[in-house]
Amino acid sequence: MSFIETDEQKQLRAAVAKLAAKYNYRDYVSAKARRNEPLDELWDEAGKLGFLGVNLPEEYGGGGAGIYELALVMEELAAQGAGLLLMVVSPAICGTIITKYGTEEQKQYWLTRLADGSSKMVFGITEPDAGSNSHNITTTARRDGGDWILNGRKIFISGVDQAEAVLIVSRTEDSKTGKLKPALFIVPTDTPGFEKNRQEMDIIEPDNQFTLFLDDVRLPGTALVGQEDAAIAQLFAGLNPERIMGAAMAVGMGRYAIDRAVEYARERQVWKTPIAAHQGISHPLAQVKIELELAKLMMQKAAVLYDSGDDFGAAEAANMAKYAAAEASIKALDQSIQTHGGSGLTADIGLAGMLGAARIARVAPVSREMILNFVSQHSLGLPKSY
Ligand SMILES: Cc1cc2nc3c(=O)[nH]c(=O)nc-3n(C[C@H](O)[C@H](O)[C@H](O)COP(=O)(O)OP(=O)(O)OC[C@H]3O[C@@H](n4cnc5c(N)ncnc54)[C@H](O)[C@@H]3O)c2cc1C
Repeated sequence: MSFIETDEQKQLRAAVAKLAAKYNYRDYVSAKARRNEPLDELWDEAGKLGFLGVNLPEEYGGGGAGIYELALVMEELAAQGAGLLLMVVSPAICGTIITKYGTEEQKQYWLTRLADGSSKMVFGITEPDAGSNSHNITTTARRDGGDWILNGRKIFISGVDQAEAVLIVSRTEDSKTGKLKPALFIVPTDTPGFEKNRQEMDIIEPDNQFTLFLDDVRLPGTALVGQEDAAIAQLFAGLNPERIMGAAMAVGMGRYAIDRAVEYARERQVWKTPIAAHQGISHPLAQVKIELELAKLMMQKAAVLYDSGDDFGAAEAANMAKYAAAEASIKALDQSIQTHGGSGLTADIGLAGMLGAARIARVAPVSREMILNFVSQHSLGLPKSY
């Protein structure tokens, strides 16, 4: 592992930063987020420039790079307050799983569209009753001749209104209980029996969340991705990228918050010097800067491990990175608001409005507590309480 990025990676960073500056939070995202409107213009342009599919194979229109590069894209967008939540699901989870386990037909159709951003696939695992306990999901797939029939419910599924399909995590009738053997299905959002309802969230965020009802949703045999009981490895292929991308979004958002605080603290003067000269202002910013850099380092380690093919090795680092990035990012935003005094709570500055969005990272895609459980059990070898 090198700590120095290649010239290509540096160029990619600079190119994404340039695009993100055009679509920054104050000029573009803020108004859209307040209307719950997706960042279509940014998504489309990022797709055309090849940023959304950097991790996908070249033969399907992708950039042939890895999750490291996709996380880099996310971080630079989020550093301008323009992180694209659906990058976590569409190219990172769905793109990765289809690349690794999809049929040639699925790759031809989906990867080419996910790579240039012309289509989005979102991801549905969370269920109201199972929650963090994914082993308890009850969405069930039943064979009917060559077809599959899906029944179940999902909750908090992001971006269903923008998506051509949802990658639904279910279990087959044969393995209805016990250890989850996930069966993954590509479910087009216009399939009869597929119903979505927008959830009223209290977050200022461009993308919406949905509850899903799958009522005898009939799918062709070709909708199944990989094996019907391919065990957990197939799902893991997508979950590590999800955590790395969650970390990247949080790191970027934290950078955005610190940058705004630094700008303001340099200019704002109420005594003899700019407020930045007071250590009560500068030290907390220095602290969160350190915490953010540490989180980023762990995110990069996770991405390098993942891209080298070590799925299970990447899990510890990906979990730790997501935890550290979420905590650092929330702290950075809070400290940025504090640095701005009363202005930090104005709509004009827009930082307070980001609080709900920043806090998503502490809960999703996996909660802080479930990461602490993972580290307790897997890293420290402590017993499980649940
Ligand atoms: C904005 C947003 C977008 C999302 N997008 C998606 C999406 O696109 N697709 C998708 O599938 N899901 C999505 N989710 C769902 C998200 O992954 C879940 O909310 C998350 O995994 C937590 O599950 P839960 O909400 O059911 O909480 P619960 O599992 O009910 O947990 C409630 C609380 O209890 C804690 N807890 C639970 N079990 C334990 C334990 N064993 N030990 C200690 N503490 C525990 C949790 O950490 C949490 O604090 C999204 C959620 C949000 C908020």
